[in-house]
This record gives sequence, C-alpha cells and structure tokens, in this order.
Amino acid sequence: MINIPKGTKDVLPAQSYKWSFIEDAAREVAKVFNLKEARTPVFEHTELFLRGVGETSDVVNKEMYTFEDKGGRSVTLKPEGTAGIARMFIENGLASSPMPVKTFYITPCFRYERPQTGRLREFHQFGIEVFGSASPQTDAEVIFAASAFLDKLGIKNVNLQINSIGCRICRGEYNKAVKNYFAPKLDGMCQACKTRFEKNPLRILDCKEEACKKTAEGAPKITDYLCGECKTHFQSVQRFLKAQNVEFSVNPNIVRGLDYYTKTVFEFVSTDIGAQGTVCGGGRYDNLLEELGGAALPAIGFAAGLERLLLLMENTKVEFPDEPSPVIFIGGMDCESREKAFEIATYLRGKGICAEIDHMERSVKAQLKYADKTGARFVTVIGENELVAQTVNIKNMRTGEFQAVKLENIYTYLVKEKQLW
Ligand code: ATP
Ligand code: MG
Repeated sequence: MINIPKGTKDVLPAQSYKWSFIEDAAREVAKVFNLKEARTPVFEHTELFLRGVGETSDVVNKEMYTFEDKGGRSVTLKPEGTAGIARMFIENGLASSPMPVKTFYITPCFRYERPQTGRLREFHQFGIEVFGSASPQTDAEVIFAASAFLDKLGIKNVNLQINSIGCRICRGEYNKAVKNYFAPKLDGMCQACKTRFEKNPLRILDCKEEACKKTAEGAPKITDYLCGECKTHFQSVQRFLKAQNVEFSVNPNIVRGLDYYTKTVFEFVSTDIGAQGTVCGGGRYDNLLEELGGAALPAIGFAAGLERLLLLMENTKVEFPDEPSPVIFIGGMDCESREKAFEIATYLRGKGICAEIDHMERSVKAQLKYADKTGARFVTVIGENELVAQTVNIKNMRTGEFQAVKLENIYTYLVKEKQLW
C-alpha cells in the first residue's frame, strides 16, 4: 500500500462539492470585479522566485520545492502565485494593454513546511493581481474583493488588519531605526534573525520565534517613518475603506512573508482555526515588475488559502449548499425494463437533468435502498406492467407520495416539479 505524501490531501468525491462552492464563489467575485483568469505553469525557473519572492523570505530560504530536471535546469514548484503572473505579464508584453490589467487565479502552491492544522505542503490559493494602478482606490478595491469573497462564503468573524510598509525611500530610514533598536539585542535572537538583521531587518518583525517576537514588541513602528507620499496613500486607503463601512484595524506589525511588498499590506485573520489564522493576505508590490526586468509599473494583489477557508467554514458551521444528487433514479426489474430505464435516463441527461440507473443488477428492493442513498429526489422502477401501460409510478422522496406518469411525460413532470430538485 502506497500512502499519500506528507502534507498533501485528497479531496474525496463526496466532499468535492464544498470545493466547487468555494471556487464558484471566487469566480463570481472575479466576474463582478472585472478580473480575468490567468493560468501559469505549476513550475517555473527557480531564479524567478529567488528574484521575485526574495532571498530573505522564509518561502525561498526554507520552503521551496526545487529540483533539477533531466535537462539539468533548476526548476521550482510555485510556492505562491504572484511571481508567475508577474512573469507572464512581462513576457507577453501586457504593459502595452489598457491599464489596469486585472487578473485572478486559482492554483495549487507547494511549500516544504512542517505540516500542521492549516499548514500543508500542497495547498491552494485564490488570488487576484491588478497591474498598472498606483491609486489608493485600487488598494481599496482589492481589499473589497477579498472581503466580498469571504462574505460570499458566509464567513464571519474575520478581522481585517492593514498596515503600510512604505516605499524604498521610507524603508531606508526605517531600516536604520530598526537596526539601531535590534543591534544590542541580537545575542538573544535566533540565527535567522541575525541574518535578517544584515539583509532585510524589516523581516525580523515577522519572526515566529517566541524570544524574537518578545524582543520585537518594542521595535520602532514603520508607520512612524512613512514618507509624505506613503503617508497620504495610506490615509487615503483608510478613507476609502471607512466610506464603505469596511471594518479594519491598523496593525503596524504586519510586514507579510514575502519580500516584494511596498506600501499597503493587509491580512484577514480568524481566531476560529488556531495558530494559522491568516486566511487571506496581500498588499502592494510596486517594485516587483521592475525587479523582474519589466516596466516600472505598480501592482497590488492578495491570495487566500482555500484549505484554511474550508477549515474555517467547517469549524464555524457555515452552511454549504446541498451536495448535488440525482433528480431521478430509474430502476428496472428485468432486461427489457432496464433497457427502457437506460433510454429514459439518456434522454433526461441530454436535457440537462441528473438521472441515475442501477449499474449493479440489484434486486428491486436493493435498488430502492440504493436510490435512497444517492439522495435522488424522485424514484421509479420500471417492470413488465409499466412497459405494457407505458406508465410509471414516480415516488416523491420528500413527501413519500406517488404519481402515475406516462413514460413520454417524465421530463415534463420533472420540470413541473423543479422546485424540488
Ligand atoms: P503564514 O504566516 O501562515 O505562513 P504566509 O505569509 O506564508 O502565511 P502567504 O504567502 O501570504 O502566506 O499566502 C497567502 C495565504 O495562503 C495565507 O494567508 C494562507 O491562507 C495560505 N497559506 C500559506 N501557506 C500555507 C500552507 N503551507 N498551507 C496552507 N495554506 C497556506
Ligand atoms: Mg508561511
């Protein structure tokens, strides 16, 4: 027996309707926000993530699924969606399209992490990326889209936390202040933070080690170091959110896990699924396209972890739509009536109605039991008498009532009872 790899999950056939529900909600939100789907490969040249996601991020340092292919190239399974979409944007010359270019994706992601609740090695993200606009209105729209998605899923009790981590200019000042603060405290901090101190001091604020977290509590706040433009931008984003009555809090400790962010960053956090409570995270990345060799265009996006959302929905008993089931089960008693059942089922399927028959040559009693298990709304069994009369008795499984229906009228009957499907 070969088992599933650690940190991965099967979606069983009886559970997949929940995934469809989440993905349909994502697509509906994308539609009303005029976002167009983009699909990029599951693997890319490793270099893309080194440059895109950033060499000081945990994702690149510890979590990448990198390997050499048979041609000796280093390739990496995508740990996130943004770098690939940014590469696609540049490579296909989308900078010459009317701006902004608004995209979304639903994709598997791969990170070599310690599997635990809400943390997998293969997981899925719904993300959006909007290229070309520097306007705070776009930040607000992207945040609204995330919020609309969570609403559509029926998720409540998630807190929106926002922050601004500034641009290259204010980050310079801030890095100096952070370094001054941490320099005398470095001895008590983890090895990774010592490296971060040298390469990207802001990242220290994202460390998950208890000792480092404690030390970081008194660190200078980035919001106190924003340059004029970044400050105005951040205030404007907040005004847009307030004007639409979106509740949020400013959390100066949010720096996000990836290196490419600038200005606005945000997270939607739940307290209902334990330590891995961030269900959606995003922000502006105004330097990424340029760093990847493209035009200097601003961009902003978010990614929501679908497994965490599912977990949250299950933990908080959010209602899913009913699992789809057959509209009608048509059984057969003998060879001839089975053929008739097959014929009618084929006709109904052609009309877009989910019809099921017996595939296992069961007894009539066993067929009825099976029909009940499938959740079919209507059940009927054809036999010799029914063939002679060209009429069947259809049982309405909700009410238990029977209705005699001519074989040729089954479709019309089901359509008439459509409210019961
Ligand atoms: P975390 O702090 O939880 O490690 P992150 O900052 O690494 O998150 P992002 O790179 O911003 O996460 O990814 C966006 C979303 O993807 C997260 O908010 C989360 O919902 C989901 N996610 C990230 N890593 C995993 C994982 N290993 N397993 C499941 N979902 C994940
Ligand atoms: Mg992470």
